[in-house]
Amino acid sequence: MNDRRIDHEALIVGAGFGGMGAAIEFTRLGIEDFLILEREDDLGGTWHVNHYPGLAVDIASVTYSYSFEPNPYWSRLFAPGAELKKYAAHIADKYDLRRRMEFGVIVEQAVWDDDGEFWTVRTHDGRTHTARYLVTATGFLSQPHTPDFPGIDSFAGDIIHTTDWRDGYDFGGRRAAVIGTGATAVQLIPEIARRARALTVFQRTPIWVVPKVDFPIPRPVQHLFAKVPLAQKAARAVNTSLLEMLMVFGVLRYQQAKPGNQVAALLAKTHLRLQVRDRETRKALTPHYDFGCKRPTFSNSYFRVFNQQNVALETGTIDHIEPDGIVTADGTKILADTLVLATGFNLWDVNFPAFQIVGRDGRDLGQWWRDGRFQAYEGITVPRFPNFLTLNSPYSYSGLSYFTTIEGQMKHIGRLFGEMRRRGTRRFEVTERANADFLDRVTKNLASSVFYAGDCSGSRSYYFNQHGEATLLRPESTLTSLREQASFPLDDYEYA
Ligand code: NAP
Repeated sequence: MNDRRIDHEALIVGAGFGGMGAAIEFTRLGIEDFLILEREDDLGGTWHVNHYPGLAVDIASVTYSYSFEPNPYWSRLFAPGAELKKYAAHIADKYDLRRRMEFGVIVEQAVWDDDGEFWTVRTHDGRTHTARYLVTATGFLSQPHTPDFPGIDSFAGDIIHTTDWRDGYDFGGRRAAVIGTGATAVQLIPEIARRARALTVFQRTPIWVVPKVDFPIPRPVQHLFAKVPLAQKAARAVNTSLLEMLMVFGVLRYQQAKPGNQVAALLAKTHLRLQVRDRETRKALTPHYDFGCKRPTFSNSYFRVFNQQNVALETGTIDHIEPDGIVTADGTKILADTLVLATGFNLWDVNFPAFQIVGRDGRDLGQWWRDGRFQAYEGITVPRFPNFLTLNSPYSYSGLSYFTTIEGQMKHIGRLFGEMRRRGTRRFEVTERANADFLDRVTKNLASSVFYAGDCSGSRSYYFNQHGEATLLRPESTLTSLREQASFPLDDYEYA
Protein backbone atom coordinates (compact mmCIF):
# COMPACT_ATOMS: atom_id res chain seq x y z
CA MET A 1 0.00 0.00 0.00
CA ASN A 2 1.39 3.36 -0.99
CA ASP A 3 0.28 5.75 1.79
CA ARG A 4 1.87 8.70 -0.01
CA ARG A 5 -0.99 8.64 -2.49
CA ILE A 6 -3.55 9.11 0.27
CA ASP A 7 -4.48 12.71 1.11
CA HIS A 8 -6.76 11.86 4.03
CA GLU A 9 -7.62 8.91 6.18
CA ALA A 10 -11.33 9.55 5.50
CA LEU A 11 -13.51 11.70 3.28
CA ILE A 12 -17.06 12.46 4.34
CA VAL A 13 -19.45 13.88 1.77
CA GLY A 14 -22.16 15.97 3.45
CA ALA A 15 -22.05 18.28 6.47
CA GLY A 16 -25.52 17.60 7.82
CA PHE A 17 -26.30 15.66 10.95
CA GLY A 18 -25.36 12.35 9.27
CA GLY A 19 -21.94 13.53 8.13
CA MET A 20 -21.26 15.18 11.46
CA GLY A 21 -22.31 11.99 13.29
CA ALA A 22 -19.79 9.99 11.25
CA ALA A 23 -17.14 12.64 11.97
CA ILE A 24 -17.84 12.48 15.71
CA GLU A 25 -17.53 8.69 15.60
CA PHE A 26 -14.24 8.90 13.69
CA THR A 27 -12.91 11.34 16.28
CA ARG A 28 -13.90 8.94 19.06
CA LEU A 29 -12.03 6.19 17.23
CA GLY A 30 -8.92 8.35 17.06
CA ILE A 31 -9.25 8.98 13.31
CA GLU A 32 -8.54 12.68 13.19
CA ASP A 33 -7.45 13.08 9.59
CA PHE A 34 -10.73 13.50 7.76
CA LEU A 35 -12.18 16.08 5.43
CA ILE A 36 -15.88 16.89 5.07
CA LEU A 37 -16.95 18.09 1.63
CA GLU A 38 -20.25 19.96 1.44
CA ARG A 39 -22.17 21.14 -1.63
CA GLU A 40 -23.88 24.05 0.17
CA ASP A 41 -22.22 27.17 1.58
CA ASP A 42 -22.69 26.17 5.22
CA LEU A 43 -23.28 23.14 7.42
CA GLY A 44 -26.60 21.75 8.63
CA GLY A 45 -27.87 19.83 5.59
CA THR A 46 -31.61 20.04 5.26
CA TRP A 47 -31.77 22.57 8.11
CA HIS A 48 -29.48 24.89 6.21
CA VAL A 49 -31.20 24.50 2.85
CA ASN A 50 -34.77 24.79 4.12
CA HIS A 51 -35.84 28.08 5.66
CA TYR A 52 -39.37 28.58 4.37
CA PRO A 53 -41.90 30.20 6.73
CA GLY A 54 -43.48 27.72 9.14
CA LEU A 55 -40.50 25.32 9.03
CA ALA A 56 -40.27 23.27 12.20
CA VAL A 57 -39.36 19.73 13.15
CA ASP A 58 -42.15 17.21 12.86
CA ILE A 59 -40.64 14.92 15.49
CA ALA A 60 -40.56 16.46 18.98
CA SER A 61 -37.17 18.01 19.66
CA VAL A 62 -36.36 15.95 22.75
CA THR A 63 -36.17 13.02 20.32
CA TYR A 64 -35.01 14.83 17.18
CA SER A 65 -31.44 15.43 18.37
CA TYR A 66 -28.36 13.34 19.21
CA SER A 67 -29.01 11.38 22.41
CA PHE A 68 -25.46 12.14 23.55
CA GLU A 69 -25.85 15.86 22.92
CA PRO A 70 -29.20 16.98 24.36
CA ASN A 71 -30.18 20.61 23.99
CA PRO A 72 -32.16 21.76 27.04
CA TYR A 73 -33.09 25.05 25.41
CA TRP A 74 -35.51 24.07 22.63
CA SER A 75 -38.11 26.84 22.71
CA ARG A 76 -41.02 24.57 21.78
CA LEU A 77 -41.84 20.90 21.85
CA PHE A 78 -41.50 21.01 18.04
CA ALA A 79 -38.60 23.44 17.57
CA PRO A 80 -38.61 25.89 14.63
CA GLY A 81 -36.15 25.13 11.82
CA ALA A 82 -33.79 27.98 12.77
CA GLU A 83 -33.11 26.31 16.13
CA LEU A 84 -32.05 23.12 14.36
CA LYS A 85 -29.62 25.10 12.25
CA LYS A 86 -28.24 26.66 15.44
CA TYR A 87 -28.00 23.23 17.04
CA ALA A 88 -26.04 21.96 14.00
CA ALA A 89 -23.62 24.89 14.35
CA HIS A 90 -23.23 24.13 18.06
CA ILE A 91 -22.36 20.49 17.29
CA ALA A 92 -19.80 21.52 14.67
CA ASP A 93 -18.16 23.92 17.13
CA LYS A 94 -18.24 21.62 20.12
CA TYR A 95 -16.67 18.72 18.19
CA ASP A 96 -14.31 21.02 16.32
CA LEU A 97 -15.61 19.94 12.92
CA ARG A 98 -15.83 23.25 11.14
CA ARG A 99 -12.12 23.49 10.35
CA ARG A 100 -12.40 20.13 8.61
CA MET A 101 -15.23 21.24 6.34
CA GLU A 102 -14.98 22.62 2.81
CA PHE A 103 -18.10 24.31 1.50
CA GLY A 104 -19.36 24.84 -2.03
CA VAL A 105 -17.73 21.63 -3.20
CA ILE A 106 -19.81 19.34 -5.39
CA VAL A 107 -18.55 15.79 -5.52
CA GLU A 108 -19.07 14.26 -8.95
CA GLN A 109 -17.47 10.85 -8.74
CA ALA A 110 -15.66 8.44 -6.43
CA VAL A 111 -13.62 5.51 -7.72
CA TRP A 112 -11.97 2.73 -5.70
CA ASP A 113 -8.37 1.86 -6.49
CA ASP A 114 -8.01 -1.78 -5.52
CA ASP A 115 -4.21 -1.90 -5.84
CA GLY A 116 -3.55 1.23 -3.86
CA GLU A 117 -6.57 0.59 -1.56
CA PHE A 118 -7.91 4.11 -1.61
CA TRP A 119 -10.78 6.16 -2.98
CA THR A 120 -10.27 8.94 -5.49
CA VAL A 121 -12.95 11.58 -5.26
CA ARG A 122 -13.37 14.07 -8.11
CA THR A 123 -15.11 17.40 -7.50
CA HIS A 124 -16.85 19.83 -9.85
CA ASP A 125 -13.85 22.17 -9.92
CA GLY A 126 -11.62 19.48 -11.39
CA ARG A 127 -9.80 18.70 -8.13
CA THR A 128 -9.26 15.20 -6.80
CA HIS A 129 -8.92 14.01 -3.23
CA THR A 130 -7.80 10.57 -2.17
CA ALA A 131 -8.72 8.83 1.05
CA ARG A 132 -8.57 5.38 2.60
CA TYR A 133 -12.23 5.55 3.68
CA LEU A 134 -15.22 7.16 1.99
CA VAL A 135 -18.48 8.07 3.74
CA THR A 136 -21.47 9.42 1.86
CA ALA A 137 -23.89 11.39 4.02
CA THR A 138 -25.74 13.20 1.27
CA GLY A 139 -29.26 12.99 2.68
CA PHE A 140 -32.41 11.40 1.32
CA LEU A 141 -34.27 14.64 0.67
CA SER A 142 -31.50 16.66 -0.91
CA GLN A 143 -32.24 16.73 -4.64
CA PRO A 144 -35.22 19.07 -5.16
CA HIS A 145 -37.89 17.87 -7.55
CA THR A 146 -39.12 20.51 -9.99
CA PRO A 147 -41.74 19.07 -12.34
CA ASP A 148 -41.40 20.38 -15.88
CA PHE A 149 -45.00 21.47 -16.36
CA PRO A 150 -45.47 22.57 -19.99
CA GLY A 151 -45.17 26.34 -20.20
CA ILE A 152 -43.59 26.84 -16.76
CA ASP A 153 -40.81 28.92 -18.31
CA SER A 154 -43.39 31.37 -19.63
CA PHE A 155 -44.76 32.16 -16.16
CA ALA A 156 -44.47 35.91 -15.68
CA GLY A 157 -44.61 35.98 -11.89
CA ASP A 158 -42.25 34.59 -9.26
CA ILE A 159 -41.53 30.87 -9.04
CA ILE A 160 -40.16 29.69 -5.69
CA HIS A 161 -39.20 26.14 -4.79
CA THR A 162 -39.46 25.56 -1.04
CA THR A 163 -35.78 24.58 -0.89
CA ASP A 164 -34.79 27.90 -2.41
CA TRP A 165 -36.88 30.24 -0.30
CA ARG A 166 -36.57 34.01 -0.62
CA ASP A 167 -36.45 35.18 2.98
CA GLY A 168 -38.84 38.02 3.65
CA TYR A 169 -40.86 37.36 0.49
CA ASP A 170 -44.12 39.23 0.96
CA PHE A 171 -47.31 37.53 -0.21
CA GLY A 172 -49.35 40.58 0.79
CA GLY A 173 -51.82 41.41 -2.00
CA ARG A 174 -50.63 38.54 -4.19
CA ARG A 175 -52.47 35.61 -5.78
CA ALA A 176 -50.43 32.60 -4.76
CA ALA A 177 -50.56 29.05 -6.06
CA VAL A 178 -48.93 26.26 -4.10
CA ILE A 179 -48.32 22.98 -5.90
CA GLY A 180 -48.00 20.01 -3.57
CA THR A 181 -49.49 18.92 -0.26
CA GLY A 182 -46.61 17.06 1.41
CA ALA A 183 -45.21 17.79 4.87
CA THR A 184 -43.50 20.94 3.59
CA ALA A 185 -46.69 22.37 2.09
CA VAL A 186 -48.61 21.54 5.26
CA GLN A 187 -46.24 23.76 7.25
CA LEU A 188 -46.01 26.52 4.66
CA ILE A 189 -49.62 26.90 3.48
CA PRO A 190 -51.00 28.41 6.73
CA GLU A 191 -48.24 31.04 6.59
CA ILE A 192 -49.06 32.02 3.01
CA ALA A 193 -52.81 31.91 3.65
CA ARG A 194 -52.34 34.53 6.35
CA ARG A 195 -50.90 37.11 3.92
CA ALA A 196 -52.00 36.32 0.37
CA ARG A 197 -54.97 37.97 -1.32
CA ALA A 198 -55.81 34.61 -2.81
CA LEU A 199 -54.25 31.18 -2.41
CA THR A 200 -54.97 28.10 -4.50
CA VAL A 201 -53.57 24.81 -3.25
CA PHE A 202 -52.99 22.23 -6.00
CA GLN A 203 -53.37 18.80 -4.49
CA ARG A 204 -52.65 15.63 -6.43
CA THR A 205 -52.66 13.20 -3.48
CA PRO A 206 -54.09 14.08 -0.05
CA ILE A 207 -51.87 13.55 2.98
CA TRP A 208 -52.77 12.04 6.35
CA VAL A 209 -52.54 14.81 8.97
CA VAL A 210 -52.84 14.20 12.70
CA PRO A 211 -53.08 16.85 15.44
CA LYS A 212 -49.83 18.35 16.64
CA VAL A 213 -49.50 18.55 20.41
CA ASP A 214 -47.13 21.49 20.44
CA PHE A 215 -46.45 24.22 22.98
CA PRO A 216 -43.65 26.52 24.13
CA ILE A 217 -41.32 24.87 26.64
CA PRO A 218 -41.41 27.22 29.64
CA ARG A 219 -38.09 28.64 30.87
CA PRO A 220 -38.26 26.77 34.21
CA VAL A 221 -38.58 23.48 32.31
CA GLN A 222 -35.60 24.42 30.11
CA HIS A 223 -33.60 25.17 33.26
CA LEU A 224 -34.72 21.86 34.74
CA PHE A 225 -33.54 20.04 31.58
CA ALA A 226 -30.20 21.88 31.83
CA LYS A 227 -29.74 21.13 35.54
CA VAL A 228 -31.18 17.63 35.61
CA PRO A 229 -30.37 15.99 32.26
CA LEU A 230 -32.14 12.87 33.48
CA ALA A 231 -35.45 14.78 33.29
CA GLN A 232 -34.92 15.47 29.59
CA LYS A 233 -33.78 11.89 29.05
CA ALA A 234 -37.05 10.72 30.59
CA ALA A 235 -39.04 13.06 28.30
CA ARG A 236 -37.08 11.69 25.34
CA ALA A 237 -37.77 8.11 26.38
CA VAL A 238 -41.52 8.73 26.66
CA ASN A 239 -41.77 10.55 23.33
CA THR A 240 -39.54 8.09 21.49
CA SER A 241 -41.60 5.18 22.81
CA LEU A 242 -44.81 6.77 21.52
CA LEU A 243 -43.30 7.34 18.07
CA GLU A 244 -41.94 3.83 18.10
CA MET A 245 -45.37 2.38 18.81
CA LEU A 246 -46.79 4.40 15.92
CA MET A 247 -44.08 3.14 13.60
CA VAL A 248 -44.01 -0.49 14.66
CA PHE A 249 -47.72 -1.10 15.20
CA GLY A 250 -49.08 1.41 12.70
CA VAL A 251 -46.69 0.79 9.81
CA LEU A 252 -44.22 -2.08 10.14
CA ARG A 253 -46.45 -4.71 11.80
CA TYR A 254 -49.57 -3.67 9.93
CA GLN A 255 -50.68 -7.24 9.29
CA GLN A 256 -50.51 -8.21 12.96
CA ALA A 257 -51.74 -4.89 14.38
CA LYS A 258 -54.15 -3.51 11.81
CA PRO A 259 -56.39 -1.87 14.46
CA GLY A 260 -53.41 0.30 15.50
CA ASN A 261 -53.19 1.62 11.97
CA GLN A 262 -56.94 2.15 11.80
CA VAL A 263 -56.93 4.13 15.06
CA ALA A 264 -54.31 6.47 13.61
CA ALA A 265 -56.41 6.92 10.45
CA LEU A 266 -59.50 7.55 12.54
CA LEU A 267 -57.66 10.19 14.56
CA ALA A 268 -56.65 11.97 11.35
CA LYS A 269 -60.19 11.74 9.94
CA THR A 270 -61.70 13.12 13.15
CA HIS A 271 -59.16 15.94 13.07
CA LEU A 272 -60.25 16.77 9.52
CA ARG A 273 -63.95 16.54 10.47
CA LEU A 274 -63.45 18.99 13.32
CA GLN A 275 -61.40 21.46 11.34
CA VAL A 276 -62.98 21.76 7.89
CA ARG A 277 -66.59 22.96 7.56
CA ASP A 278 -67.29 22.14 3.92
CA ARG A 279 -68.18 18.50 3.25
CA GLU A 280 -66.85 18.41 -0.31
CA THR A 281 -63.54 19.90 0.75
CA ARG A 282 -63.25 17.35 3.54
CA LYS A 283 -63.89 14.58 1.05
CA ALA A 284 -61.21 15.92 -1.25
CA LEU A 285 -58.73 16.14 1.63
CA THR A 286 -59.31 12.53 2.72
CA PRO A 287 -56.61 10.07 1.60
CA HIS A 288 -57.66 6.86 -0.14
CA TYR A 289 -54.63 4.84 0.84
CA ASP A 290 -53.71 3.36 4.20
CA PHE A 291 -52.21 5.48 6.93
CA GLY A 292 -48.40 5.21 6.87
CA CYS A 293 -48.02 4.39 3.16
CA LYS A 294 -46.41 7.80 2.84
CA ARG A 295 -45.06 9.82 5.70
CA PRO A 296 -47.99 11.33 7.62
CA THR A 297 -47.63 14.75 9.14
CA PHE A 298 -48.74 16.80 12.14
CA SER A 299 -50.53 20.14 12.02
CA ASN A 300 -53.24 22.07 13.84
CA SER A 301 -53.46 24.86 11.30
CA TYR A 302 -53.30 23.22 7.85
CA PHE A 303 -56.87 21.94 7.48
CA ARG A 304 -58.34 25.11 8.93
CA VAL A 305 -57.04 27.32 6.13
CA PHE A 306 -59.53 25.68 3.79
CA ASN A 307 -62.34 27.46 5.68
CA GLN A 308 -60.83 30.82 4.72
CA GLN A 309 -62.51 32.88 2.00
CA ASN A 310 -59.19 33.57 0.27
CA VAL A 311 -58.15 29.88 0.04
CA ALA A 312 -59.25 27.29 -2.53
CA LEU A 313 -58.35 23.63 -2.93
CA GLU A 314 -57.80 22.54 -6.53
CA THR A 315 -57.72 18.83 -7.30
CA GLY A 316 -57.77 19.05 -11.09
CA THR A 317 -54.67 17.79 -12.90
CA ILE A 318 -52.31 20.54 -13.98
CA ASP A 319 -52.22 20.62 -17.77
CA HIS A 320 -49.92 23.54 -18.38
CA ILE A 321 -48.80 26.90 -17.10
CA GLU A 322 -49.38 30.24 -18.80
CA PRO A 323 -47.77 33.60 -18.02
CA ASP A 324 -50.55 34.55 -15.63
CA GLY A 325 -51.76 31.29 -14.19
CA ILE A 326 -52.21 27.54 -14.15
CA VAL A 327 -54.54 25.68 -16.51
CA THR A 328 -56.03 22.36 -15.41
CA ALA A 329 -56.96 19.41 -17.64
CA ASP A 330 -60.60 20.56 -17.89
CA GLY A 331 -59.46 23.94 -19.22
CA THR A 332 -60.01 25.92 -16.02
CA LYS A 333 -57.45 28.68 -15.55
CA ILE A 334 -56.45 29.77 -12.04
CA LEU A 335 -54.79 33.17 -12.02
CA ALA A 336 -51.58 33.44 -10.04
CA ASP A 337 -48.69 35.81 -9.70
CA THR A 338 -46.56 33.69 -7.35
CA LEU A 339 -46.03 30.00 -7.95
CA VAL A 340 -44.72 28.00 -5.00
CA LEU A 341 -43.33 24.58 -5.81
CA ALA A 342 -43.72 22.44 -2.69
CA THR A 343 -43.03 19.49 -4.95
CA GLY A 344 -40.53 17.71 -2.76
CA PHE A 345 -37.50 15.71 -3.76
CA ASN A 346 -36.30 13.17 -6.24
CA LEU A 347 -34.99 10.26 -4.25
CA TRP A 348 -34.75 7.27 -6.50
CA ASP A 349 -33.64 8.62 -9.88
CA VAL A 350 -30.81 10.89 -8.84
CA ASN A 351 -30.12 10.25 -5.18
CA PHE A 352 -29.14 6.63 -4.75
CA PRO A 353 -26.27 7.47 -4.78
CA ALA A 354 -26.00 11.26 -5.16
CA PHE A 355 -22.97 10.93 -7.48
CA GLN A 356 -21.24 8.15 -9.38
CA ILE A 357 -19.50 5.64 -7.13
CA VAL A 358 -17.41 2.90 -8.72
CA GLY A 359 -16.19 0.07 -6.52
CA ARG A 360 -14.12 -3.05 -6.99
CA ASP A 361 -14.21 -4.73 -10.43
CA GLY A 362 -15.73 -1.56 -11.88
CA ARG A 363 -19.09 -2.07 -10.16
CA ASP A 364 -21.12 1.13 -10.50
CA LEU A 365 -23.29 1.47 -7.39
CA GLY A 366 -26.19 3.34 -8.97
CA GLN A 367 -26.33 1.03 -11.96
CA TRP A 368 -26.04 -2.08 -9.80
CA TRP A 369 -28.92 -0.93 -7.60
CA ARG A 370 -31.07 -0.08 -10.61
CA ASP A 371 -30.28 -3.20 -12.66
CA GLY A 372 -30.87 -5.46 -9.67
CA ARG A 373 -32.33 -4.54 -6.32
CA PHE A 374 -31.61 -1.61 -4.03
CA GLN A 375 -29.67 -3.05 -1.08
CA ALA A 376 -27.05 -2.33 1.56
CA TYR A 377 -25.95 -4.53 4.45
CA GLU A 378 -27.41 -3.11 7.67
CA GLY A 379 -28.19 -0.03 5.56
CA ILE A 380 -24.54 1.03 5.52
CA THR A 381 -22.11 -1.15 3.49
CA VAL A 382 -22.16 -2.81 0.08
CA PRO A 383 -20.21 -5.80 -1.30
CA ARG A 384 -17.45 -4.86 -3.75
CA PHE A 385 -17.25 -1.39 -2.21
CA PRO A 386 -14.35 -1.76 0.21
CA ASN A 387 -13.81 0.95 2.86
CA PHE A 388 -17.08 2.60 1.91
CA LEU A 389 -19.89 3.61 4.26
CA THR A 390 -23.11 4.84 2.72
CA LEU A 391 -25.33 6.50 5.30
CA ASN A 392 -28.33 7.25 3.10
CA SER A 393 -28.87 3.77 1.84
CA PRO A 394 -31.69 1.42 1.07
CA TYR A 395 -33.14 0.00 4.32
CA SER A 396 -31.13 2.38 6.49
CA TYR A 397 -33.92 4.64 7.78
CA SER A 398 -34.87 3.39 11.20
CA GLY A 399 -37.78 4.71 13.25
CA LEU A 400 -39.27 8.13 12.74
CA SER A 401 -36.40 10.35 13.91
CA TYR A 402 -33.42 10.51 11.55
CA PHE A 403 -31.15 10.69 14.61
CA THR A 404 -31.95 7.05 15.42
CA THR A 405 -30.62 6.08 12.02
CA ILE A 406 -27.46 8.14 12.46
CA GLU A 407 -26.74 6.81 15.93
CA GLY A 408 -27.23 3.21 14.79
CA GLN A 409 -24.77 3.82 11.99
CA MET A 410 -22.31 5.41 14.40
CA LYS A 411 -22.48 2.22 16.47
CA HIS A 412 -21.85 0.17 13.34
CA ILE A 413 -18.81 2.26 12.42
CA GLY A 414 -17.50 1.96 15.99
CA ARG A 415 -17.78 -1.84 16.00
CA LEU A 416 -16.32 -2.26 12.52
CA PHE A 417 -13.35 0.02 13.04
CA GLY A 418 -12.77 -1.40 16.53
CA GLU A 419 -12.45 -4.85 14.97
CA MET A 420 -10.08 -3.58 12.30
CA ARG A 421 -7.91 -2.06 14.98
CA ARG A 422 -7.94 -5.33 16.94
CA ARG A 423 -6.84 -7.20 13.85
CA GLY A 424 -4.33 -4.55 12.82
CA THR A 425 -5.98 -4.13 9.40
CA ARG A 426 -7.22 -1.11 7.49
CA ARG A 427 -9.47 -2.58 4.84
CA PHE A 428 -12.99 -3.94 5.18
CA GLU A 429 -15.57 -5.26 2.78
CA VAL A 430 -18.93 -6.79 3.61
CA THR A 431 -19.35 -10.32 2.28
CA GLU A 432 -21.85 -11.11 -0.49
CA ARG A 433 -23.40 -13.72 1.82
CA ALA A 434 -24.00 -11.31 4.73
CA ASN A 435 -25.47 -8.76 2.36
CA ALA A 436 -27.77 -11.32 0.74
CA ASP A 437 -28.92 -12.60 4.14
CA PHE A 438 -29.73 -9.08 5.30
CA LEU A 439 -31.65 -8.38 2.11
CA ASP A 440 -33.63 -11.60 2.55
CA ARG A 441 -34.43 -10.71 6.14
CA VAL A 442 -35.68 -7.18 5.45
CA THR A 443 -37.64 -8.41 2.43
CA LYS A 444 -39.36 -11.00 4.62
CA ASN A 445 -40.05 -8.51 7.42
CA LEU A 446 -41.51 -6.00 5.01
CA ALA A 447 -44.16 -8.44 3.85
CA SER A 448 -46.26 -7.68 6.93
CA SER A 449 -45.80 -3.89 6.70
CA VAL A 450 -48.45 -1.51 5.46
CA PHE A 451 -46.43 -1.16 2.25
CA TYR A 452 -47.24 -4.72 1.16
CA ALA A 453 -50.02 -5.94 3.44
CA GLY A 454 -51.98 -2.68 3.26
CA ASP A 455 -53.39 -0.67 0.39
CA CYS A 456 -50.81 1.83 -0.80
CA SER A 457 -52.05 2.08 -4.36
CA GLY A 458 -52.38 5.70 -5.37
CA SER A 459 -50.29 6.95 -2.45
CA ARG A 460 -47.38 8.01 -4.70
CA SER A 461 -45.11 7.56 -1.73
CA TYR A 462 -41.38 8.19 -1.89
CA TYR A 463 -40.96 5.15 0.37
CA PHE A 464 -41.31 3.13 -2.86
CA ASN A 465 -38.56 3.11 -5.47
CA GLN A 466 -38.98 3.02 -9.25
CA HIS A 467 -39.34 -0.79 -9.14
CA GLY A 468 -42.29 -0.44 -6.75
CA GLU A 469 -40.33 -1.82 -3.79
CA ALA A 470 -40.45 -0.10 -0.39
CA THR A 471 -36.69 0.03 0.11
CA LEU A 472 -36.19 3.06 2.33
CA LEU A 473 -37.23 2.00 5.82
CA ARG A 474 -35.55 -0.64 7.92
CA PRO A 475 -38.46 -2.88 8.95
CA GLU A 476 -37.55 -3.39 12.59
CA SER A 477 -38.03 -1.57 15.86
CA THR A 478 -35.33 0.99 16.56
CA LEU A 479 -34.24 -1.01 19.60
CA THR A 480 -33.65 -4.10 17.46
CA SER A 481 -31.90 -2.02 14.85
CA LEU A 482 -29.62 -0.32 17.40
CA ARG A 483 -28.83 -3.67 19.01
CA GLU A 484 -27.96 -5.23 15.66
CA GLN A 485 -25.75 -2.34 14.63
CA ALA A 486 -23.82 -2.80 17.88
CA SER A 487 -23.54 -6.59 17.67
CA PHE A 488 -23.51 -7.71 14.01
CA PRO A 489 -21.36 -10.83 13.43
CA LEU A 490 -17.83 -9.62 12.86
CA ASP A 491 -17.23 -12.24 10.17
CA ASP A 492 -19.90 -10.58 8.04
CA TYR A 493 -16.89 -8.58 6.87
CA GLU A 494 -13.64 -9.57 5.23
CA TYR A 495 -10.64 -7.68 6.57
CA ALA A 496 -7.25 -7.20 4.99
P1 NAP B 1 -43.25 15.38 -0.65
O1 NAP B 1 -43.76 14.73 0.56
O2 NAP B 1 -42.59 14.53 -1.67
O3 NAP B 1 -44.44 16.18 -1.31
C1 NAP B 1 -44.35 16.71 -2.59
C2 NAP B 1 -45.73 17.17 -3.01
O4 NAP B 1 -45.65 17.70 -4.33
C3 NAP B 1 -46.72 16.02 -3.05
O5 NAP B 1 -47.96 16.46 -2.60
C4 NAP B 1 -46.75 15.68 -4.54
O6 NAP B 1 -47.92 15.07 -4.96
C5 NAP B 1 -46.61 17.06 -5.15
N1 NAP B 1 -46.15 16.96 -6.51
C6 NAP B 1 -44.92 16.56 -6.94
N2 NAP B 1 -44.89 16.58 -8.28
C7 NAP B 1 -46.09 16.99 -8.71
C8 NAP B 1 -46.68 17.19 -9.97
N3 NAP B 1 -45.99 16.97 -11.09
N4 NAP B 1 -47.96 17.61 -10.03
C9 NAP B 1 -48.66 17.83 -8.90
N5 NAP B 1 -48.18 17.65 -7.66
C10 NAP B 1 -46.91 17.23 -7.58
O7 NAP B 1 -42.19 16.53 -0.28
P2 NAP B 1 -42.16 17.48 0.99
O8 NAP B 1 -43.48 18.00 1.32
O9 NAP B 1 -41.08 18.45 0.74
O10 NAP B 1 -41.76 16.53 2.15
C11 NAP B 1 -40.74 15.56 2.01
C12 NAP B 1 -40.35 15.02 3.34
O11 NAP B 1 -39.55 15.98 4.00
C13 NAP B 1 -41.45 14.73 4.32
O12 NAP B 1 -42.05 13.51 4.11
C14 NAP B 1 -40.72 14.76 5.62
O13 NAP B 1 -40.08 13.53 5.86
C15 NAP B 1 -39.70 15.80 5.37
N6 NAP B 1 -40.12 17.06 5.93
C16 NAP B 1 -39.89 17.23 7.22
C17 NAP B 1 -40.25 18.38 7.79
C18 NAP B 1 -39.93 18.58 9.19
O14 NAP B 1 -39.53 17.73 9.89
N7 NAP B 1 -40.07 19.73 9.62
C19 NAP B 1 -40.87 19.37 7.09
C20 NAP B 1 -41.10 19.18 5.78
C21 NAP B 1 -40.70 18.02 5.19
P3 NAP B 1 -48.05 13.47 -4.94
O15 NAP B 1 -48.16 13.10 -3.49
O16 NAP B 1 -49.24 13.18 -5.74
O17 NAP B 1 -46.79 12.94 -5.56
